[in-house]
Amino acid sequence: MMVGAPHVLVLGTTNAGKLRELVELLEPLGIPCRSLAGDPRAVEVEETGGTFAENAALKAATQARALDAWVLAEDSGLVVSALDGAPGIYSARFSGHGATDASNNALLLERLAGRRGAARAAHYACHAALADPAGRIVATSSGTCGGLIAETPSGTGGFGYDPLFVVPEYHRTFGDLAAAVKSVISHRARALRAIIPELARHLR
Ligand code: IMP
Repeated sequence: MMVGAPHVLVLGTTNAGKLRELVELLEPLGIPCRSLAGDPRAVEVEETGGTFAENAALKAATQARALDAWVLAEDSGLVVSALDGAPGIYSARFSGHGATDASNNALLLERLAGRRGAARAAHYACHAALADPAGRIVATSSGTCGGLIAETPSGTGGFGYDPLFVVPEYHRTFGDLAAAVKSVISHRARALRAIIPELARHLR
């Protein structure tokens, strides 16, 4: 039984694609969530960490202190073996200042030109961090999802690199696959599922 009013969990991202997926994954838990949108106290967090884990913690702790709220943040990206792990933590800004999903995908295809089959192996990684209103990290988790980079984009589902990310089990990109599939096997779904017990413990 819940005692008193439940805490509201702030989702520490402004990325619309991530937000949609996080809300969908958290909804069944019955934890009241809101985004940073429209909150004048939300800050622009500079991602100065050297790893997904460091950046996730940085985002969660900084927004939690600024908003005096529980914040769940994540840092995620695409890791391509043939590119020595690039774009990695730089996934959002792979093609430089003003990068868009389209410009990032075009650069990825360019960098992998001439490579075939297993030489196009990649995985998505997601690290999540939960911060209390004082900015203390009380829980962390991570998840990955393996795949291959297609030679041409396909599908309009998901966001970011999804039209190029082929999930081997389905022979389809995340752009082609239904959101319901991504919500079970994605890096974000796996990281979220791993942190759910801690969310439930602190926020219900
Ligand atoms: P972040 O906001 O710094 O964590 O950067 C995340 C970036 O990684 C996104 O802008 C995408 O380029 C990429 N990314 C992360 N997760 C996904 C995903 O689920 N699908 C497609 N691209 C993703």
